[in-house]
Amino acid sequence: MSDMNTAAGDQGIMLKLMNVESAYGPIKAIRGVSLKVRKGEVATVLGSNGAGKTTILKTISGIIDPRKGSVEFKGQDITARDPAFIVQQGLSHVPEGREVFPLLSVHDNLLMGAYTRHDRDGVARDMEMVFGYFPILKEREHQDAGLLSGGQQQMLAISRALMANPELILLDEPSLGLSPKLTKEIFEIVVRINRERGTTILLVEQNANMALNASDYGYVLENGRIVMEDTCAALREKEDIKEFYLGMKETGVRGERRWKKKKTWR
Ligand code: ATP
Repeated sequence: MSDMNTAAGDQGIMLKLMNVESAYGPIKAIRGVSLKVRKGEVATVLGSNGAGKTTILKTISGIIDPRKGSVEFKGQDITARDPAFIVQQGLSHVPEGREVFPLLSVHDNLLMGAYTRHDRDGVARDMEMVFGYFPILKEREHQDAGLLSGGQQQMLAISRALMANPELILLDEPSLGLSPKLTKEIFEIVVRINRERGTTILLVEQNANMALNASDYGYVLENGRIVMEDTCAALREKEDIKEFYLGMKETGVRGERRWKKKKTWR
């Protein structure tokens, strides 16, 4: 990846974090995080509970201002800019835990996603587009979002982000609280959105198996630092990943030790 450090190597880079540090009071949640997401790819940040994945996404979308470092989107410095400004540049964030507006209908939740847009025809077209991906939302269009199941709320949260017509979607743990079957369905649609619409996606996940299969390039985050990066095809073959994130290594101890054992990454 040596060319990635040169200006020419930045061609085709949609998102670039350089040495980002973000904290909650005295707690440094991420330290020296540098990563790049190429236009058109699905990238993932893997990490266990509390590793700092959500903090990375919140720092990118302007919810948290970093203490150090920079965030560039499409070559523009968006470090610590207002979240509404960042959405307008074409970057949408699907937060952890979905956070739909429970007392608004599905339809109105989707319109909220399009609040920065003025092209009514485009908004109507995109609403049909999201109903194409998630037909159940069309059936529930006039119901309150709070009455939807967890999986349907996740679909709505992704759809609401799509309604802003983004070039990049930040997706925070879409598998959280969902059955394996539903998780698989949602990941398949995320990949379809990427392939069919060319939307670039940065996904953070504890479910390494799903994330590595859905993504092109991956970063591994431990205690707020990136400890490994590679193509997902290569990451899937690494012994550390198999043992600690996929639980596949036959000699590995599954369960608690997978997350708790101190590991020197190589
Ligand atoms: P999870 O999968 O559990 O959401 P994560 O990898 O997304 O984990 P973060 O939510 O980014 O991790 O949290 C990183 C660290 O920052 C953790 O140690 C967490 O306890 C701490 N943290 C997160 N939010 C806050 C907050 N609002 N105030 C104080 N500390 C926080």
